[in-house]
Amino acid sequence: LKPGMAVHGGAWAIPDDLLEAHRDGCAEALARGLAILEAGGSSLDAVEAAVVVMEDDETFDAGFGSFLNVEGEVTLDAAVMDGETLSTGAVVDLRGVPNAVQLARHVLASQHAVLVGEGAHRFALENDVIVCDPEALVSPRERQRWEAMKGLDTTAWAAELFGDTVGAVAIDREGNLAAATSTGGSPMKPLGRVGDSPFVGAGLYACNGTAAVSTTGHGELIIPLVWSKTAADLAGSGLPAQQAAEDALRRLERIGGRGGMIVIDAEGRIGVIWNTPHMAFAYRDPVTGEVIAGPHA
Ligand code: ASP
Repeated sequence: LKPGMAVHGGAWAIPDDLLEAHRDGCAEALARGLAILEAGGSSLDAVEAAVVVMEDDETFDAGFGSFLNVEGEVTLDAAVMDGETLSTGAVVDLRGVPNAVQLARHVLASQHAVLVGEGAHRFALENDVIVCDPEALVSPRERQRWEAMKGLDTTAWAAELFGDTVGAVAIDREGNLAAATSTGGSPMKPLGRVGDSPFVGAGLYACNGTAAVSTTGHGELIIPLVWSKTAADLAGSGLPAQQAAEDALRRLERIGGRGGMIVIDAEGRIGVIWNTPHMAFAYRDPVTGEVIAGPHA
């Protein structure tokens, strides 16, 4: 079996001047993950490494450069899932950890599945995961955006304004699937608000034999659909990845939701779908070997 991979960098109305940075950032993340897979590395290592690239890239709403919450802080959610063992690790409402996905990976390796807030931060210190001053994750661009939105009533456009959450799905030489998702959440989110991204089944899912999935979009509507698990089950029932993704998107549309997802099925077929103006993504076509990346204007 040939290894395969797809990554995404969020689904929303990406401003024109940021389209190229999103496309390039996704292509770079994909290249990092594929290099690991080609060297015989695991899908779990590949998705983690790809997500780290996008967390470190200020273009995306994860790690440095994340959207700020209503208090003007970066608070992070991330999760990773191993399709072979169904082990999961998630961190929620985390501050001052630039690579939340690395911490999620440590949680996966522990006896726990989810750590939140202060406890997650303490777990980072215990496991030598890099920590920083929470303020160091605030990019000048996001501080400006926050200043412009401060005091405005954001509820009206909350359904439009989710961001460039990042994610990756992969299959390795052994046929093992894995998924990872990392986010700073939606801009101006209230204190304590958590979207779909760190919830297994909603923001990500991976199960050998069905599919690995990572999502982005309006978290409050993705959660009740258990959207990633839904897409994986559709793939498990025999639909190729793209059709599974299309069917899953129709279900999101039925409840008025907007977003996108990437899917890789047990045969290495890839699905990429969104109903927002753009989605940032990159994948290697399993048939031609060509790298396909977006968004385009
Ligand atoms: N799904 C994320 C959330 O609801 C936002 C995003 O995908 O950009 O927090």
